[in-house]
Amino acid sequence: MSEIKFIYEKSSPLEMHKVRIVQKLNLIPVEERLKAITEAGNNTFLLKNRDVFMDMLTDSGVNAMSDQQLAAMMVADDSYAGSETFTRLEDKIKEIFGKKYFLPTHQGRACENILSQVYVKPGSIVPMNYHFTTSKAHITLNGGSVEEIVSDEALEINSDNPFKGNIDIDKLKALIEAHGAEKIAFVRLEAGTNLIGGQPISLQNMKDVYKLCHDNGILVVLDASLLADNLYFIKQREEACRDMTIREITRAIADHSDIIYFSARKLGCARGGGICTSSEEHYLKMRELITLYEGFLTYGGMSVREMEAIAVGLEETMDFDMISQGPQFIAYMVDKLYEAGIPVVTPPGGLGCHLDAKSFVSHIPQSQYPAGALAAALFIVSGVRGMERGTLSEQRDENGNEVYSNMELLRLALPRRVFTLSQVNYAVDRIRWLYDNRHLVGGLTFVEEPKVLRFFFGRLKPVSDWQIKLVEKFKADFGDSL
Ligand SMILES: *Cc1c(COP(=O)(O)O)cnc(C)c1O
Repeated sequence: MSEIKFIYEKSSPLEMHKVRIVQKLNLIPVEERLKAITEAGNNTFLLKNRDVFMDMLTDSGVNAMSDQQLAAMMVADDSYAGSETFTRLEDKIKEIFGKKYFLPTHQGRACENILSQVYVKPGSIVPMNYHFTTSKAHITLNGGSVEEIVSDEALEINSDNPFKGNIDIDKLKALIEAHGAEKIAFVRLEAGTNLIGGQPISLQNMKDVYKLCHDNGILVVLDASLLADNLYFIKQREEACRDMTIREITRAIADHSDIIYFSARKLGCARGGGICTSSEEHYLKMRELITLYEGFLTYGGMSVREMEAIAVGLEETMDFDMISQGPQFIAYMVDKLYEAGIPVVTPPGGLGCHLDAKSFVSHIPQSQYPAGALAAALFIVSGVRGMERGTLSEQRDENGNEVYSNMELLRLALPRRVFTLSQVNYAVDRIRWLYDNRHLVGGLTFVEEPKVLRFFFGRLKPVSDWQIKLVEKFKADFGDSL
C-alpha cells in the first residue's frame, strides 16, 4: 500500500482488508490479572489465553488468515505420500524462490535441527547477524558456537540506520582470517532479525555477504521466517530497490543464498516450515533426516490443510498491501510511544514494538530481569501479554553464571491483520501510564529455573510486594475502570 494521505486527520495506517470473522475478547479486572500472572509464575508464556486481552506474545502461528487460505484448506488432497497438495506447495516455493528442491518440516526450529545436524561439528563456528533462541540452541547442541557479527549500531536502541540487521562485512572477513573458512559451518542470515527489534537486512548487504562467502567456499543459509517484513523494508528503505516488485526482490534475495529455511508460522501466515535449495548435494544430505524427524518427504509433519494455506499465504506475501500491514501498524505504535518520551527501539522494525526495559525500569538490575519484570507489570495494568527478550531468554554459561543480554527488550508483537488501531491505542495508553508509574515496578527472581530454554517454563516471583502496590495505584487512578 502506498502511503495513504489524510488531509484533515493525522495520517495513520489503513487496513486493506475487511474483517469477516471475529473472536470475542475478555478484559478481566486488575486483581484477577494479578492473580493470573502470579499463578503463571510471572512468566507470560504460562498465562492462559482466556485471561489475556491483547495477545502480543508472538506472531508465531497467530497471524490472521485470509478467506483464500481457508478456502484452499477445504480442497486439500490428503494422502501419506505424493499428495497433490504437496506438489502445489513445492511448485509455489520453486516459483517464488527459484530453488529446485523443497523439504517440508513441522516448523522453523525443525529446519534448524536438521541444518545443525548436517553442517555443525564440534568446534564449528556459525557467524550470523544475530542469533535466534532456537537456532543458537541447535548449533550449540551439536558442539558449534555462534558469532554475532551484526554492525555495532544494531545494539543501539535509537538510530536512524534503516538496516540495523546488516552483517558487518569487516567482522566477517576477520572471522574468516582468524579461524579459516573450513571452521565455518555456514553463515546464517536472519532476515529480518528477531531478538534485536525486527530490524531488517538490506539486499546489498546480502549480496556482499554472499560474494565474500563464495570467494571463500562458505555456505550461506538464509532464515526467511521474518522475510515478509524485511521485503517491505527493502522496498521502502533501499534506494536501489524502489522500482523492483516484491517478487523481484524475493528472487534477488533467494539468488544470494545457498539454502533457505523458514517457519511458516510466520512466513505465509499458517503453520509448518521448510528448507529449499538448488543444490542436489545439499538436498540429499538433509533429506534422510526429514524422514527420521519430520515425516515422509511429502508432508514433513504438516497437515495437508496447512500446506495448502502456506502455498496461498506465500503467494499473498508477494502483495505489497498485505506485507505493509504489520510494519505500518508497528510504526504507528512506535511513533506514538516515542513522541511520549517512552524508550522504544527505533527505527520501527518488523514483528512488533520493542520497549527498552534497561531504560524504562533503569532501577532494576539485570540480575532481576528488567524486561521480564516489565512484561509482568504491563500484563497487570493492561491485560496485554508481551514477551521478554533479554537476560531471561539467555542461558547460564557452563559455570552456572548469568549471561547478561546486550539488550533488555519487552517485545509487543503485532500479529498481522489481527488488531485494530483502537486496540493499539489502548496498549499505548496503558504503557504511558506504566511509564509514569515506573518507579513502582520491581524485579523478579527465579523459583524454578530449567536449564535449557528457561524462558518457556521458568517460574519467578517478585523480589518484594511491588505488584500489590502497583495494583493499588492503578485502582486509585482508574477507579472502576478495568
Ligand atoms: C520463529 C522463528 C524461528 C523458529 O520457528 P518456529 O516455527 O517457531 O520453530 C526461527 N527463526 C526466526 C527468525 C524466527 O522468528
